[in-house]
Amino acid sequence: MKKMMVLSMAAFLGLCFTANAQEKTYPKQEPMRPGMSEYWTPQPKIVTPGDAKTNSAPSDAIVLFDGKDLSQWENPRGGEAKWKVENGVIVVNKERGAGDIATKEKFGNFQLHIEWCVPKDIEGTSQSRGNSGVFLQGMYEVQILDSYENETYVNGMAGSIYKQTPPLVNVMRKPGEWNVYDIIYTAPIFNPDGTYLYRPRVTVIQNGVVLQNNVEILGTTEYIGFPKVTPHGDGPIVLQMHGDPSKPISFRNIWIRKL
Ligand code: MG
Repeated sequence: MKKMMVLSMAAFLGLCFTANAQEKTYPKQEPMRPGMSEYWTPQPKIVTPGDAKTNSAPSDAIVLFDGKDLSQWENPRGGEAKWKVENGVIVVNKERGAGDIATKEKFGNFQLHIEWCVPKDIEGTSQSRGNSGVFLQGMYEVQILDSYENETYVNGMAGSIYKQTPPLVNVMRKPGEWNVYDIIYTAPIFNPDGTYLYRPRVTVIQNGVVLQNNVEILGTTEYIGFPKVTPHGDGPIVLQMHGDPSKPISFRNIWIRKL
């Protein structure tokens, strides 16, 4: 009797097991084909690249300076941009009251191309030698300085996020030669209380060499004091008129692409 019970129990469990196994039969996974992980639309917009010989802007760029005039620029304190255009380049005007120049248009995320040249006969040392700067959204300065055989505090040299992050390397060309900045910038997003939800980020490439690799900007780039976090929206590109007594630098071939 006991043996019968054991056998019955075993048969019952066997049935259960079989039923359970049947329930857990799944459809076979279809074999992966290459097309399953490919998509074709939307196709990226076609952009004609700049001409390498003439150093022209890509077809979808906003040209901020093409050698002719300052029609895209103004004085950020009001009125016309007071810098000079000479021989197809912009020359910083260091006369008292001339001030910075700012783009009339405001930008969020962007790719900026800007070329700058320190005069061949530049004089001065440290920060008093070809000092200018590119302010992103009018808030955050990427330093411009003659850092060719001219030491200064490293978070104030060419390609630094001013008073924050030094460049990874020094890739300056000699005074009299043109330097090229390509700057890729991601604007910050703010919390309702005015703090950063996402900090601004920037990649800076000088003469084809990465100086800042998607670096977080901590706040405004103050001359005195630490970075401040000030809520803002889109802002202009501002070029700095620095009050040092060295000869003014020049700019050319400036264009920007909204991202
Ligand atoms: Mg500066």
